[in-house]
Order: sequence, then structure tokens, then C-alpha cells
Amino acid sequence: MNDKIVMPGDRLSTSEELLPGEGTFEEDGVIRAARVGKFLVNKKYMSAEVKPVTSIPVLIKKGDIVIAKVDSVKSSMLIAEVLHVVGKNRGISGDTSATLHVSEIARGYVKEPATEFGVGDYFRAKVFQVKPSIQITTKDGDLGAIKSLCTKCRNPLVKKGNILECENCGNKQKRRIATDYGEIDLNKL
Ligand SMILES: [Zn+2]
Repeated sequence: MNDKIVMPGDRLSTSEELLPGEGTFEEDGVIRAARVGKFLVNKKYMSAEVKPVTSIPVLIKKGDIVIAKVDSVKSSMLIAEVLHVVGKNRGISGDTSATLHVSEIARGYVKEPATEFGVGDYFRAKVFQVKPSIQITTKDGDLGAIKSLCTKCRNPLVKKGNILECENCGNKQKRRIATDYGEIDLNKL
């Protein structure tokens, strides 16, 4: 069973092997994808089909790695909006509001979330509960902030060793940062 994502025009098969099915077209004996989607072979009809994937929203599941943005920071937790499920090029349906409890921020002791995250920070987290509420953790090394804003002037902070620095106002701030902080293009998630 083939289920890879194909682009319009991609060669899927020859018309000798398979029939052109839904979401495909035939041209000079070759079956090609007519849309972006998941390529699969319908064994019953021996046809090539491309199922649309972009229109099906993704539900957040336990174990997902997600990109979230900090909405508010409280004394024992922070509230974040889940923007993206890593590896899923689709919108999210259902609840996107997630809670990161202070005890789930790092492996060591964290007194309060405000020392590790600021409002507007983008961070990578792992979902460990979805019901009754979405609970996330940043304990692992590749989790944590990937883009943070200066709390004084809202400029993006630049990583300098283990600390983040604002190149605009010189403010230095600590964050629970991911190992690849600052290296991710947020427009290409
Ligand atoms: Zn600043």
C-alpha cells in the first residue's frame, strides 16, 4: 500500500498497471496526480487514486509534538495556543488551548513559569493529555522556546550561549529554550 503525498503532475503509474481513478488523470499512457493528496491504490478496481488531505483538519492527539504560542503566564502554569502539529500540513480542528504546568517545563525545579517563558513566545511541546484539557510538556531537550520576544520592547531575542539577548535594548533574558532555538523558519512549519 502506497500512501505518500503527491503533487499535481506527479507520475503515479502507467495505464497498463492501473486505471486512472479519483484525483488522477491519464496522459500518454501515464497516470498522474491531478491534485495534492495521498496516493493510494484501490485494489478492488486496480485504480490509482489521490485522496485530498489538505481539507481534512487534524485533531491533536496524545504524543503529538506541537508548536504553540504563549497566550498568558500565570503563577503555576501558562496557557498557550497550539498552532501546528509537527509533521501535519493541515489546520487543527477542535480545542487548541493547551496548559503547560510549571512542573512540566523542565526536568529541574522551576519556581514559576514567568522565569522561563514570556507572552508571545513560540515553543515546541509534547502533548501528554488531550482530555478533559490539553496538557503539554517541554521537559525534553528538543522542546522549549524556538522564538522569544523581549518583554521590554517586543523585539525577537537572539541566543547568546545559554542566555537570550535583545539586540534592540540589550535586555538579557532566560528562557526554557529548545536546542534549535532561532534556527526555525516559522513560516515554513
Ligand atoms: Zn528589548
